Amino acid sequence: MQRIKGIAVSHGIVVGRAFLVGTAEQVVPHRTIQESEVPQQLERLHVALRAAGAQIAELSERTRRELGTEPAKIFEFHAGLLRDKALLAAIERRIGGTFVTAEQAVADQFRQLVDQFRRMGNEVFEQKANDIIDLERRVLGQLMGEQTSRLAQLEEPAVIVAHELTPSQAAAMDRSKVTALATDLGGRTSHTSIVARALGLPAVVGCQHLAANVEEGDTLIVDGNAGMVIVRPDARTLEEYSRLQERSRRSRAALRELSGQEAVTKDGVRIQLMGNIEFPEEIESVLANGGDGVGLYRTEFLWLTRKEPPTEQDHYEAYLHALRLLKGKPLTIRTCDLGADKYTQAQMEEPERNPFLGLRSIRHSLATPHEFKAQLRAILRASAHGPVKTMFPLVSNLMELRQGKLMIADIGEELADEGIPFDAQMPVGVMIEVPAAALMSRVFASESAFFSIGTNDLVQYTLAVDRGNERVAHLYNAAHPAVVYLTKTILRSARAGGIDCSCCGEVAGEPVFCMLLLGLGLRTLSMVPDQIPVIKRVIRSVTMEQCERLARRVGSFDSERQIETTLRDELRKIDPDVFGQWVAE
Ligand code: PEP
Ligand code: MG
Repeated sequence: MQRIKGIAVSHGIVVGRAFLVGTAEQVVPHRTIQESEVPQQLERLHVALRAAGAQIAELSERTRRELGTEPAKIFEFHAGLLRDKALLAAIERRIGGTFVTAEQAVADQFRQLVDQFRRMGNEVFEQKANDIIDLERRVLGQLMGEQTSRLAQLEEPAVIVAHELTPSQAAAMDRSKVTALATDLGGRTSHTSIVARALGLPAVVGCQHLAANVEEGDTLIVDGNAGMVIVRPDARTLEEYSRLQERSRRSRAALRELSGQEAVTKDGVRIQLMGNIEFPEEIESVLANGGDGVGLYRTEFLWLTRKEPPTEQDHYEAYLHALRLLKGKPLTIRTCDLGADKYTQAQMEEPERNPFLGLRSIRHSLATPHEFKAQLRAILRASAHGPVKTMFPLVSNLMELRQGKLMIADIGEELADEGIPFDAQMPVGVMIEVPAAALMSRVFASESAFFSIGTNDLVQYTLAVDRGNERVAHLYNAAHPAVVYLTKTILRSARAGGIDCSCCGEVAGEPVFCMLLLGLGLRTLSMVPDQIPVIKRVIRSVTMEQCERLARRVGSFDSERQIETTLRDELRKIDPDVFGQWVAE
């Protein structure tokens, strides 16, 4: 039995069997194969090498066309290596002689080659060694890309264990079979964690060395409350966790009974509780949990679940489906937020060096106007069928908002000419999730119909802490005084501009932050549907006066520790039994 500590990102406890997923960036899974599997592994190797060769030929041709023959020469070495008979024979010998998977044979043989080049100790050979690593990644990418289809065809309930689960893999997995997630990398607001919460799957990330210690089929306990994964538990531990699992299920069921009641404070202030969704099917859960509508529809999953960019019709059908399920309740569609960790960098021709500061979100949309237009046309067309709002993510300057609005206005004219109905008054707002936008929020308020605060990114960009990096997860803290200050600034600007402001970052669904957010002035919170009942429970237990007093106190603190402790203490005071699990240090 082995206990591995990680970061608790999605509540619940699950006991299940491990299913291992790899990525081309990680150490490949070390699995020995049966002699009878050798032909199949050889076939996989040949298919992967052919596909990698085709990719290189295409890249070489494009480089030659765009940059000339000299820069394209770099690919000659890659292509030559792939055709090298001695190298192929050595990889085949590893598969057939030592009974390892094609991935491992490729990794071992390429690494041996890299070492040989590096030992030569000169700059030219060092460069060649880097080229070999590049080629190795490409071939492994071909071999391990198959993981996505394995995930889509799970045969039994499974706990997914991965070094890192990409959003595309998370989007592709058979959601009816996955019972929990556990990964080596990641933080509270990395997108895989968000998907886990959205699907109500217990999850622990940032476990660092879990994947290397788990074999496929191992029994695992994923404790998403304490942030712990137990590998191959003994009988006593299994029994203890079965009891805990039952208790956690009962407390959820009790909270769900609140779904029919209003989210209103003891002194009568009504709060709108909305759901964040990635897929329209999650609307069922928003409504079952008593949500008032959808405050954030993350549409990039339309890109992540298919190979080609979605067409206008793909968008339109998804939005219409969402509106039908919502039966008149509002739908806030966020335009595509591709980029950063939501675009597997491996898919890009040239992975960005700093993707979170790169071509992401509205920047990506404006740089791909054809795709952006397809999405905006679909949103406008859908707006004829129900209350739709649109918001642009990661806006950092006014021009991005103006360009987006201009495109909407042009498309509106086009639709009118074509006689296609749409809501000419559709509200267009912005997410405030970049410090620049927060500091300039007064200006943005004069040109936006509403704000939605995206604390997940606002925290990472304000504190310069990667939201998905487990090594700095201890520094990622929404209770930082700088974040509280920016939130106050944004709300002040929204009030001055007479526009609505909601919060759709993960903190909106964290009971610990609820009183502070209300006290600062938020009246709409949008969250993972499963969190709606517990947030409603907090709201129904407090007065607005209490919340405002707390916000004033917290506003005078200058350390995140002090703020966090105060917020935990206040929550614990409301009901230690109900909120005990949310205030664990
Ligand atoms: C946010 O940044 O708070 C947010 C809601 O957007 P996402 O998590 O999709 O980046
Ligand atoms: Mg964001």
